[in-house]
Amino acid sequence: MAISFSLEGKAALVTGANTGIGQAIAVALAEAGADVALAGRSEPTETLALIAATGRKAVNIKADLSSIEPVGRVIDEAVAGLGKVDILVNNAGIIRRDDLLQFSEEDWDAVMDTNLKTLFFLSQAAAKGMVERGGGKIVNIASLLTFQGGIRVPSYAAAKSGVGGVTKAMANELAAKGVQVNAIAPGYISTNNTAALQGDETRNRQILERIPTGRWGDPKDIAGAAVFLASPASDYVTGHVLAVDGGWLAR
Ligand code: NAP
Repeated sequence: MAISFSLEGKAALVTGANTGIGQAIAVALAEAGADVALAGRSEPTETLALIAATGRKAVNIKADLSSIEPVGRVIDEAVAGLGKVDILVNNAGIIRRDDLLQFSEEDWDAVMDTNLKTLFFLSQAAAKGMVERGGGKIVNIASLLTFQGGIRVPSYAAAKSGVGGVTKAMANELAAKGVQVNAIAPGYISTNNTAALQGDETRNRQILERIPTGRWGDPKDIAGAAVFLASPASDYVTGHVLAVDGGWLAR
C-alpha cells in the first residue's frame, strides 16, 4: 500500500487563518487536496484568494473565538459549506506579556479562554461528526511553552501546557473511534504574534543564538507537519506533540 499524504476529498476547518501560521496551514491543506473552511474574527481575504488559486473550495466563517459561544455555529457552517469536517486545526491564539507580580486576571482569562477552552470545546463539537463517520484528524497548535515556562507569559505557558495535556486526553478517548489528535509545537516563527520579540534587539539576538538552525521559522515551516498530521500517513500517530523548532528543544 502506498503511503498517502493526499487530502483529496477531505474537508478541513482551520481557526485564525487570516495570517501567520494559520494561513500557511490552510493553504497547504488546500494544496494537498482539501476543501477548507476558515473560522476567525478578521476577514481572511488573502487566504481565501490563495485557496481559490489551488482550485479547492474555501468557506469563510466569521467567529470571535475568545469564548465558546460560537462553537456550535462554526461547526454547523463548516458542515453546511463543505458537507463535513474531517480535519480540524485549532490554530487561533493570543499572547499577553507582563511581569509576573502584576499579571492581571484579565490577561490570564483572555489567553486561557481563547487558547485552551475554545480549543477543547471546538474539538469536542467537531469530534462528534468525526466519530459518527468513523474517522478524523485534530491538530492543535501548541508551543515551546508546552514544554518550557517562558518569561513574562504565565497565562500563555499555562494554556499551551494545557494544550499538550488535552491533546493526549482527547487522543486517548478518540483513538479507538478512528480519530487521531496531535499537536504541533512551533518554535520561534516570524508572525504578528512574535513581532514584539523580533523588534527587541537583545531578545532577538538571544533567541537566534540558541536556535541550531540559526534563523526564525517561517509559517510555511509549520505547514508540512500539519499536512502530515492531517493525512493518512499519520494514521498510527496520536497523542503526540511534534516540535517544529529548528532544533531549539534539542539544545
Ligand atoms: P498571529 O499571526 O497573531 O495569528 C493568530 C491568529 O489567531 C489570527 O488569525 C488571529 O485573528 C486569531 N485569533 C486570535 N484571537 C482570536 C479570536 N478571539 N477569535 C478568532 N480568531 C482569533 O500569530 P501566529 O504566530 O500565526 O499564531 C498562530 C498560533 O501559533 C497561535 O496559537 C500561537 O500561539 C501559536 N504559536 C506561534 C508561535 C510563533 O512563534 N509565532 C510559536 C508557538 C506557537 P486576528 O487577526 O483577528 O487577531
